[in-house]
Amino acid sequence: MTNQDYRMSQLIEVEACTNCRVCSDVCPAVSATQDGELSGVHRIKGLRQILKGRTGLLQKLLGRRAPVDKEWKHFSDTVFRCTLCGNCQEVCPVGIQLRDLWLSLRQDLVHSNFYPKKIEMIRDNLKENHNVFAEDNEERADWVEDMKHPPDDGYIKDRSEVVYFTGCVASYFPLAQKIPVALVEILEVSDVDFTLLGEDEWCCGFPMLGAGLREMFQEFVDHNLEAVRAKNAKLAIFACPSCYQMWREHYPRAIEISHASQFLLNLVKKGRTPLKELPLTVTYHDPCDLGRGAGVYDEPRELIRSIPGIKFVELPRSREDCQCCGGGGNLEMIDPELSSEIARRKIEEVMGTGAQAVVTSCQQCVRTMTTYARRNKIPIEVLDITQLLHRALKKT
Ligand code: SF4
Ligand code: SF4
Repeated sequence: MTNQDYRMSQLIEVEACTNCRVCSDVCPAVSATQDGELSGVHRIKGLRQILKGRTGLLQKLLGRRAPVDKEWKHFSDTVFRCTLCGNCQEVCPVGIQLRDLWLSLRQDLVHSNFYPKKIEMIRDNLKENHNVFAEDNEERADWVEDMKHPPDDGYIKDRSEVVYFTGCVASYFPLAQKIPVALVEILEVSDVDFTLLGEDEWCCGFPMLGAGLREMFQEFVDHNLEAVRAKNAKLAIFACPSCYQMWREHYPRAIEISHASQFLLNLVKKGRTPLKELPLTVTYHDPCDLGRGAGVYDEPRELIRSIPGIKFVELPRSREDCQCCGGGGNLEMIDPELSSEIARRKIEEVMGTGAQAVVTSCQQCVRTMTTYARRNKIPIEVLDITQLLHRALKKT
């Protein structure tokens, strides 16, 4: 066990924490459980103890001891009960890159053999199937066949300037498959030449970093980049904010990338996407990875407002302050009850706006919020922004 999972800058950051507890005040896991041990400040304290306990000299001089197994396990449980929403990082007055730190900490815990057993399932699924759900990767684009009028080529071309990187959730979950279906139909009506990667698309890598499995990451990056290059593509578009953020932060800048909300807004502005009136009151939930993660706040709002007939109302907590839906950080797999409690709070906030639908730009947010609303018979519609635009699409 060493401290090699941390960059030097992270080791310095850990010492910079002033114990102000602002991170705890905004943490959705803390407010859902009333358990301060899930907060950033508590985690930093635990991390300091781990780091110093490993330094033999300090141990002798200061009488510090390394945590025992029971303490490691308890600490690990708190670390993985986090949505990686980045709200703590957003408010930290010292500017500690907390989200990144949580990823390194998870990796350290995996290396130290203190991690939730579900992580092994994630690792095995990715190793064997190249997607996080243990589905056959050859079936990645099978959702196309379920469309009313699937094209002969299944939207998979040898070459195209635009690649639509679909992502694992939207490829395999029936509820989320409505998003790629909506997006490809919009692209068709807007006369965009694009291709899918089909079975050549592998997981973007986000579940690996979130699970502390960084060693597997590079192989997936190299593979995906090569698959996109083989299409001669100049641009990759993503409806999934986590895929988009992975490509934005961790892939070499070999081609242009765009989130679907940005790409579609551009099409609408150019007059390529004909829209009809859609009388609907909606609010917008900023996905953590698209908002705080990538700073994309304005384009989705502009796109919503570009639809004639739409009435738009903001959530009380929006943009940088938006509360997570509960679906991030692999939390749904690790602690489904906590994930659902965070979703409950989100839906309550949504209902308070009087909106008929909550729009987001993420298949995981759609899944988490829809599942909660359906299970509890709450009369709210949850739509991805592609689905909203699709509903307003004037098909010729
Ligand atoms: S990332 Fe989100 S859930 Fe995790 S500690 Fe920070 S505020 Fe809490
Ligand atoms: S907000 Fe930053 S400085 Fe304050 S307790 Fe949290 S991590 Fe430490």
